Amino acid sequence: AQARLERHWVAHYDPRRSQDVREQMSLESDLHEALERGELSLYFQPVLDLCREQIVGVEALARWFHPTRGAVSPGVFIPLAEERGLIRALDRMVLEEALRTAVTLPGWVAVNLSAQSFLDPGLPKFVWDCLDRFGVEPWRLVLEITERVLALPAKAQPVLKELQALGVQVAVDDFGTGYSSLSYLREFNLNYLKVDQAFTGRIGASQKDEAVLEGILILAAGLGLRVIAEGVEKPIQLRWLKEAGGELAQGYHIARPMGTEALHQLLENWQPSSR
Ligand code: C2E
Ligand code: MG
Ligand code: MG
Ligand code: MG
Repeated sequence: AQARLERHWVAHYDPRRSQDVREQMSLESDLHEALERGELSLYFQPVLDLCREQIVGVEALARWFHPTRGAVSPGVFIPLAEERGLIRALDRMVLEEALRTAVTLPGWVAVNLSAQSFLDPGLPKFVWDCLDRFGVEPWRLVLEITERVLALPAKAQPVLKELQALGVQVAVDDFGTGYSSLSYLREFNLNYLKVDQAFTGRIGASQKDEAVLEGILILAAGLGLRVIAEGVEKPIQLRWLKEAGGELAQGYHIARPMGTEALHQLLENWQPSSR
């Protein structure tokens, strides 16, 4: 048995992997510290109303500028925070900072919530306290959740009701990619569908993706949901969305995520003809 164990170990021992593990652990402790010291920051990405050609809201996106590693991608540190039980603290920090900034902005501010944060029983009270402390009207907060959360209706429904009783809005993020089940769209009282960039990015390149988008727009209109097309990178995509009757759009072609100073400047100088 010992020999078998040893063979097993030898076969699976990969020094590169143990390097990865150490790397993960040091990144994790750094993230822990960054959270404690408030070293994470927020960028904001504008959302455009296609009809009025105005910026009507922004999405808050967490940023981590590590003192020695430089910028660490949310694609790396968000899953790490989720695995290591740090995501609730992170999402609360983002919520608080986003509402602090909302005071200086017109329109709404959207905040991403991981499943653990959304299902945290203390969340509604925390949200209410922040809104109250900064004097932000509840409708100006949009909570972005993913289809994954809504796939557990028995758990999600009471939380959603409690949050919406506060008057905040709710968006389904990355719509069409994850655990899509159309039944939740009628079960829950949602405000926005954020269509994933996987679809938007193929406008002008794939008739099938365009057909899916057209279908989503019709579906959303019928259910009284507003659609935000994510990942608009090209003028042709923006034009297509306008012609198809899309209401809201977000993406690099409209504006990249940016710090508050740049955001204030962009909002000040925005003209309907800007994009
Ligand atoms: P998301 O919520 O779907 O956010 C949109 C992502 O797409 C952002 O990536 C944004 O920078 C990027 N993006 C925006 N426009 C374009 C475009 O035109 N083209 C392309 N290719 N990308 C575009 P980011 O900031 O790297 O965030 C990645 C994901 O990390 C987010 O996806 C969200 O799921 C998660 N995340 C970010 N901040 C938070 C947070 O505070 N809490 C939680 N729980 N998750 C967060
Ligand atoms: Mg989002
Ligand atoms: Mg998204
Ligand atoms: Mg996404």
